[in-house]
Amino acid sequence: MKFNKVLENIKTYEAGKPIELVVREFGIAPEDVVKLASNENPIGTSPAVASVIRENATKAHLYPDDSMFELKAALSQKFDVQDENIIIGAGSDQVLEFISRALLNENESVLMSAVTFAMYEIYAKQMGAKIVRTPSWEHKFDEFIEAYRTHKPKIVYICTPNNPTGDATSKEEVLRIIEAIDPETLVVVDGAYMEYAAAKDTDYAIGPKDLIGYEHVIYLGTFSKAYGLGGMRVGYGIAQAALIQELYKMRPPFNITTLSLAAAIAAAKDETFVAESIRLHQEELTRYEAFAKVYKFGYIKSYTNFITYLFPKTMDSTQIADALLRRGVIIRDLASYGMNAIRITVGTKRQNDIFFKQFEEVIA
Ligand SMILES: *Cc1c(COP(=O)(O)O)cnc(C)c1O
Repeated sequence: MKFNKVLENIKTYEAGKPIELVVREFGIAPEDVVKLASNENPIGTSPAVASVIRENATKAHLYPDDSMFELKAALSQKFDVQDENIIIGAGSDQVLEFISRALLNENESVLMSAVTFAMYEIYAKQMGAKIVRTPSWEHKFDEFIEAYRTHKPKIVYICTPNNPTGDATSKEEVLRIIEAIDPETLVVVDGAYMEYAAAKDTDYAIGPKDLIGYEHVIYLGTFSKAYGLGGMRVGYGIAQAALIQELYKMRPPFNITTLSLAAAIAAAKDETFVAESIRLHQEELTRYEAFAKVYKFGYIKSYTNFITYLFPKTMDSTQIADALLRRGVIIRDLASYGMNAIRITVGTKRQNDIFFKQFEEVIA
């Protein structure tokens, strides 16, 4: 069978390895496996979420409220925007897909930093669009504007904080980039980890309210990270109503489940849980920084719930990641991004203790 030509160029997204795989392949008991690979909230999710999921267990036969009225109400209140400014996706991933399908074709290109979220490229390639990357993994104004002027991309991606590097771009810098781009190009500000950045340094806090005045900008957020709902698949895009209306044309009906919808509504209302998660995270993050200093390798200052360790030539990220995996510690090797580095989701104190111990043994 002949598939669409664009598929020849696409490498399947490699998700973080599941606990089940380590149990199967290395015979390690599930309770001894430490998964620090997918930037999930290690504490879990709001207790209110588990209880609404139980309450909704008898509603599996019913389609969810397709208007998602209550969830949009919670988000519009949180961000001080209108319901008409919001589109909900099965993860913000699905909103990225809507955006790509609404705007791209084989005559268009997209612009992103050298090392950033892998799905931008995959969705663009599905549409046959060309990928343009800046030289640096940081989002640098000069590099973005030069590439923008040369290639006139249809979409510019600003991932802040950035995954898989963990660095962030200041609000001032993001607004400078947006101002230098004309309204024929959509700027996507992906704030999947924004809750962590905003708590760390207000200069890096960017919200939908800062961007809603621009007709060519969309802000993306997700419940998968700080809100602890990775397994529920709920994200959102916030932009001017005219743009949201176009994206709606790409949306299948009932695109998140009845349980996901109920869970997201409950999670959105429990800001205390998010604040507590971030506080615990910040405490544990400092241990990862101290650990890197002791062993004299580099790390990228993190504005996210993970940290990226940068290794010297004498250490090989793939070897280290494999050895850790065999010991039941799942982290992310960044060799496929062209970096001799690993990305570790900051876990609970217990999980981090296990990581440090196993890492020490591996490099010994
Ligand atoms: C995790 C992540 C997303 C989206 O995750 P969903 O689970 O699909 O909401 C988007 N962008 C970045 C940079 C991410 O790390």
